[in-house]
Amino acid sequence: MINYVSALMAEVRAKNPAEPEFHQAVQEVVESLALVLDRHPEYRAAKILERMIEPERVIMFRVPWQNDEGEIHVNRGFRIGMNSAIGPYKGGLRFHPSVNLGILKFLAFEQVFKNALTTLPLGGGKGGSDFDPKGKSDNEVMRFCQAFMAELSRHIGPYRDVPAGDIGVGQREIGFLFGMYKKLRNEFTGVLTGKGLGWGGSLIRPQATGYGAVYFAAEMLKTRHEGLEGMTCLISGSGNVAQYTVEKLINMGARPLTLSDSAGYIYDEAGITEEKLAFIMDLKNVRRGRIAEYADKFKSATYTPNDLTLDHNPLWNHKAQCAFPSATQNEINGKDAANLLRNGVYVVSEGANMPTTMEGVNQFLEAGILYGPGKAANAGGVATSGLEMAQNSMRISWTRASGRAAIKIALRLFMSISSAFRFGFFAFCYFALLLERLHGQEDQPTTAISPAPTAAVSPTVPQTSPAPAATPQISPAASSPQLTDVLFKNLKPRWIGPAVMGGRVSDIAIDPRNPATFYVGLATGGLFKTGDNGVTFNPIFDKQPALSIGAVAVAPSDSDVVWVGTGEANDRNSSEWGDGIYRSNDGGEHWENVGLKESRAIARIVVHPTKPEVAYVAAMGHLWKDGGERGLYKTTDAGKTWKLVLKAPAPNNSRTGCGDVVLDPSNPEVVYATLYARQRTPWSFAYGVTATGGADVGGIFKSTNGGASWKKLAGGLPGQTGRIGLAISANKSKVVMAVVHSDEGGASDLRNIHSRRGGVFRSEDGGEKWARMSDIDPRPFYFSQIRIDPGNDLRVYVLGMAVLVSDEGGKNFREDLSEKVHPDCHALAIQANSAPAPKPPKPEDKNTQSHSSR
Ligand code: NAP
Repeated sequence: MINYVSALMAEVRAKNPAEPEFHQAVQEVVESLALVLDRHPEYRAAKILERMIEPERVIMFRVPWQNDEGEIHVNRGFRIGMNSAIGPYKGGLRFHPSVNLGILKFLAFEQVFKNALTTLPLGGGKGGSDFDPKGKSDNEVMRFCQAFMAELSRHIGPYRDVPAGDIGVGQREIGFLFGMYKKLRNEFTGVLTGKGLGWGGSLIRPQATGYGAVYFAAEMLKTRHEGLEGMTCLISGSGNVAQYTVEKLINMGARPLTLSDSAGYIYDEAGITEEKLAFIMDLKNVRRGRIAEYADKFKSATYTPNDLTLDHNPLWNHKAQCAFPSATQNEINGKDAANLLRNGVYVVSEGANMPTTMEGVNQFLEAGILYGPGKAANAGGVATSGLEMAQNSMRISWTRASGRAAIKIALRLFMSISSAFRFGFFAFCYFALLLERLHGQEDQPTTAISPAPTAAVSPTVPQTSPAPAATPQISPAASSPQLTDVLFKNLKPRWIGPAVMGGRVSDIAIDPRNPATFYVGLATGGLFKTGDNGVTFNPIFDKQPALSIGAVAVAPSDSDVVWVGTGEANDRNSSEWGDGIYRSNDGGEHWENVGLKESRAIARIVVHPTKPEVAYVAAMGHLWKDGGERGLYKTTDAGKTWKLVLKAPAPNNSRTGCGDVVLDPSNPEVVYATLYARQRTPWSFAYGVTATGGADVGGIFKSTNGGASWKKLAGGLPGQTGRIGLAISANKSKVVMAVVHSDEGGASDLRNIHSRRGGVFRSEDGGEKWARMSDIDPRPFYFSQIRIDPGNDLRVYVLGMAVLVSDEGGKNFREDLSEKVHPDCHALAIQANSAPAPKPPKPEDKNTQSHSSR
């Protein structure tokens, strides 16, 4: 694949000489797509990427105009139609002396991807001129705009190409351009966006890009439970994007410190306030002055003129937490990025297009800071432009709120994707989206797709790279991608959440006051909380050093008190471990480790019904070696001290932990708990009597005095037990149930969910006598979970590869919805007072009756 990428880049360089910005933008995308192209030779064969790199059309034209002195000037005008696969070309016009074909092609290329991900039907384009509006009178700017539109008007239209503003093209220029278009075409149509409000513009459009970059930063910070309030921010530029970035930052309580223009920058240690921003807006938008005047006006500010001999921009060398590059491309080089990181910046949200060089981007990614690339972070503007087009077509004007909502929706979409894929994979998403649409068009026989470019492959392309096959073929390389340098470069270690082997949910706890709030613990992914009944979840444990959650409990009498036991207690070879018990007094906002740091795996936590400081912890202990903290622990002072109240006799206490615990809801002094011995080696797993050299130390134990003394329960329970799960009925506290792993009569094959002597047991007298209701005990070392519906003690659930349900107190089970969810169910929480009526098995319930006693 490295051959394909380097051959493609060689071709891009050869066909587009002296266009370094275009090469840079293409390279960034092509490299990040290497894996996709490797796996999909059909995309290579169809030359999808080659088609996207080649503009659909490039229009270059002469713009002659007359200045106030009557002298003639000739500038060059451009409009690039990069890709119209999903809608008319959309992208700004830039008037700046630095404008050339390569810069506009890079901007148009980036625009294609950005627009696609807004999910609006917008193709990508860009245009402009090397005309410099700075220092020109309004009349001169008007005459230039009119001359520019004299040619451009023949190529644009509401269904063909809809330009907007960019550097040097604000509302004044859009006004002159629109007026001329109207005159030439004799029509009032939404052919330009960024128009004034009184003549077809959209509320919020001027603010959209700057506001969007700030919203994007705020969303990134939210992932770390932080906000912009009080944050110090460096901003470059002082045009449209920079001004509204500063406005929104002030609005959100942040402290903007810098602004710049192409002559230098100001640093205001007192911070830029609303009043100072009003001065800048007047200076830049009305008087068209230079940023140096800011330092003359406000004494807290210093002005530093540009020094072209420096290898860095001193603006990026101030202490701050956030940076918003909002001027132009490649304004942050490798040295600037290093300075930013050294000065404490950990949020970078790009208002400008491609403001960071690849060297700089790599440093941000390596440092793991919150980095919002321009393709996403500055998409607020084009999303609102899309809405302006819709309003023009419908001949209506929407409210400010709908504009702001659109920016936020577009940016949320980007955020959700970015948090999963991070920068390098953005391109993948854009690509996937475009591809889907391109393919959609290919499905329509009447819609033509422009043929693959027929230009001969440049002679500089290395001959070693094989031409893609004409018909899709799966090459060996495609079926097993090679980890090339290019792929490695983009594969930075990153947090991807519970997507690995231990991705199971290990426990769920419902807030007793508000069932729409609940907590989900993941075996290898921390703790998540929802406040809206599972519509959205927030990770609330990411700042703690433990990744694996074993148990979660909310205090029944105070739902701000949340207990978490770290370390999963399912004895998988992939199981992670924890570092003890954590407690929060504020619903999971803050956590304190309150001990049992050597417990490694916690199977259950139960909290006293009226005393949030009293809790029992079932500690399973180290899975791979002896010792540590294991057994049933009790605290009566919120975790300040712990007492080991139930353990196996020595020496077997070194391998025996507590596998489950329940409290009698009518009398919390009555406690049931299980003991379970087990240990793994890399080549084996020993449990029960095989882990203790024959000593049968496991089983179910009962205390009637809050754990002070214990009695091992028998009365129908089997011996030689392994892992045991417990449940107690909420409304009939004498009903206690257990799913019991037992090797009495011989061990069962792990794949067999039927046990010889173990299975589901039920006691209706508080554990004195037990009836074996069923032989079901699915994969006990991995599950051993049983629940009784709090409102109906006859409805019983046993968890395993499927959720097994009984409406006969555990006698017969059926698999509810077993084919509709991913198998392996480790946790189940049932909201109190929500019991359904007992349901007879239906014919469509899979394996009905098959899990009964044999
Ligand atoms: P603008 O209003 O013309 O402002 C541009 C600012 O950047 C001015 O302060 C300008 O200073 C400064 N600047 C331009 N070229 C520079 C250079 N080579 N070196 C140093 N400073 C330079 O333009 P804008 O609309 O804010 O656009 C700023 C950036 O955001 C661009 O990268 C643009 O592509 C991107 N963007 C804009 C939008 C939008 O909605 N406007 C949307 C997405 C992305 P001078 O006045 O002294 O030249």
